Amino acid sequence: MYAIGVDIGGTTIKLGCVQDGQTIIYRDRRQSPRDPAVMAQAIRSMVGVAERKFPGAPVGISCAGSMDSQGYVTASQLGWQAAPLGPLLYEQFNRALPMENDAMCALAAEHMYGALKGCDTGLLITLGTGIGGGVIVGGVPARGHMGLHGEIGHMITRADGRPCSCGQQGCWEMYAAASKLREMAGGISVREVISRVRAGDLLDIWHAYVHEVVIGLSSLMMIFAPQVIAIGGGLSNAGDIVIGTFRQQVEQTSAFRTFNPFTQIVSARFQNDAGILGAAALALLAG
Ligand SMILES: [Zn+2]
Repeated sequence: MYAIGVDIGGTTIKLGCVQDGQTIIYRDRRQSPRDPAVMAQAIRSMVGVAERKFPGAPVGISCAGSMDSQGYVTASQLGWQAAPLGPLLYEQFNRALPMENDAMCALAAEHMYGALKGCDTGLLITLGTGIGGGVIVGGVPARGHMGLHGEIGHMITRADGRPCSCGQQGCWEMYAAASKLREMAGGISVREVISRVRAGDLLDIWHAYVHEVVIGLSSLMMIFAPQVIAIGGGLSNAGDIVIGTFRQQVEQTSAFRTFNPFTQIVSARFQNDAGILGAAALALLAG
């Protein structure tokens, strides 16, 4: 069983043909055009090449930013404000393609095949430039009004804190995104920070950062009582020191001990390919 997943990011369009849900057996990539019409043509052309190799494979789209139910996309990474990508793709393909934002696609991939597989209640939290992710409740992705989904990274963890691009002050991602760890460590890479922490250096900075992450995790645990929290993004690649420290710190809070002794904190399974795999999963679900 094959499906084609297309992952539109700020710099590249990545396409993958996925076999049995998890194995990418063909890949293609191009630079992301800024013009939505040129983007739709590029995707039609990439999918055309893939379809000749895998005839009849359904196609799903993952896109950066947020989108409404008509497929109008707003994504700062692409410089788009309500860009009509959905309608333009409809023109190119003569059919509506299932499309979700990258966070929902990553959540779908983890839920169907990865760290949240079989979860009734679980969270995916991606620590990157910002904080993304999503929530599974009752075995399905939680959605808000008009199909919108929650913005975990813009949960306020510091009253009257730093101003955020979203217009609020004190959002979680202003303190706990992986990019903030880099800033706290004077601009050295996250990888370098982790290797120094392993060597017993920069421990004050590391613990201050972990504290910011754990404040948010603790609130999310109180709201959702998840079985599993999967941590994604480059930081979770750094191995057990990261996940282990989060787990240890969360376990030291009294609320966790009292109410939530069952929540597991683990690394997300899929990193760079989460968008492709999630988009392919959407295609299969829609087909
Ligand atoms: Zn915000």
